[in-house]
Amino acid sequence: MKKKTIYIIIPFVLIAMVVVLVVMFTKQKPTIIERKEIVEEKIPELYGEPLTDWTLYTDTVRKGDFLGTIMGRYGITPQQIDKIAKMSSDTFNVTLINLGRPFTVFSDTVIDSIPQAKIFVYENSAVRFTKYDFRNPDTILISKLEKPIDTVDLEAAGVIEYSLWQTMIDNGYSWELALAMSQTFAWTVDFYALQPGDWFKVLYSELYVGDKRIGIGDIKAGVFYQGGKELWAVPFTQDSTLSFFDTVGNSMRKTFLLAPLEYTNISSRYSHARMHPIFHKVTEHLAVDFSAPMGTPVYAASDGTIVTRTYGTGAGYYVAIRHNSVYTTVYMHFSRFGEYNVGDRVNQGDIIGYVGSTGWSTGPHLHYEVHENGQKIDPLKFEPPPAEPVDSAHLERFNEEKRFWIDKVNAIKMDEVK
Ligand SMILES: [Zn+2]
Repeated sequence: MKKKTIYIIIPFVLIAMVVVLVVMFTKQKPTIIERKEIVEEKIPELYGEPLTDWTLYTDTVRKGDFLGTIMGRYGITPQQIDKIAKMSSDTFNVTLINLGRPFTVFSDTVIDSIPQAKIFVYENSAVRFTKYDFRNPDTILISKLEKPIDTVDLEAAGVIEYSLWQTMIDNGYSWELALAMSQTFAWTVDFYALQPGDWFKVLYSELYVGDKRIGIGDIKAGVFYQGGKELWAVPFTQDSTLSFFDTVGNSMRKTFLLAPLEYTNISSRYSHARMHPIFHKVTEHLAVDFSAPMGTPVYAASDGTIVTRTYGTGAGYYVAIRHNSVYTTVYMHFSRFGEYNVGDRVNQGDIIGYVGSTGWSTGPHLHYEVHENGQKIDPLKFEPPPAEPVDSAHLERFNEEKRFWIDKVNAIKMDEVK
């Protein structure tokens, strides 16, 4: 009886095995087809030109060389050179060749031991080159082109011991990477307040032309650990704009108040030349004056750190807030300060002082400056980067993509990076 049961079961087991195999095979099928792709035989190229029967001559621009004299050495006639000079606009300025830059001549004939150039390529930079094509006897084709750029994905990690820069140097990373990181994390990480033990992990890319490194690409994603918090940069594209967000989809950037107080009118605008109300001579006014009643509260325009809180002869009682490595705002002529001192973190909207008329001032007003990379810009034309969070319509996609980036960044090991 038992034996019979087994015999009955066996066909079922076989059928099941066949089904499993069929399923496995069907699942594998697309992969197999993909691998059968015919690999086309590819002729190697140089400057977008297939290297068929050419003889190549490569040299660099020497002292006293002009494009015309160089080309003349490769059988290009004075008439052709003249034609090039006439064709060349600013974009193809023939005189703009630099000492030491390489050039390449493509030739297929030699007359009186002079190789005859059919194509002449001058390398403007590591990426850009100008191609002069003499193959058609009636016309000379000039084109400005770029070499293909390869992107290599890399990762970086480090623990802060003294400063970010020192950590970058110690780990063998480039200053460009440090700069890119300080820009990506400008609004969330206080780079002036990094402490020993703070750390970072970032995914980034480097750009290559052939095997020559030409610079840094983008920061792809990353995390900075500062003050006991993980500050994430998660990339996400919405409305065809790529921005960075934290892990819940808030923008990494902070907005600025349009005006840091409730004012009655603008008494003086940003100008490179205005009549100074006290000195009665033309001076710059790289700020905006907001008139307001004495004692009107003045707010921090955005989150930041108080870096100045003092009295100046011209400025009166004034405050400066550093928002990040790019932006600082300055507030002058206070009647009195708010409760925050130098070194204190303030949030947007915190009261930092009250309208007054201290210093060189003719009446109660706030003199407000916005500094961008150390330059005083027009606060009324200042358009800070947008700070919108991920739109609720895109939240599902954001959460999926975020998982990918977070896992990838978390997988970076401190001791495994270079
Ligand atoms: Zn002013």
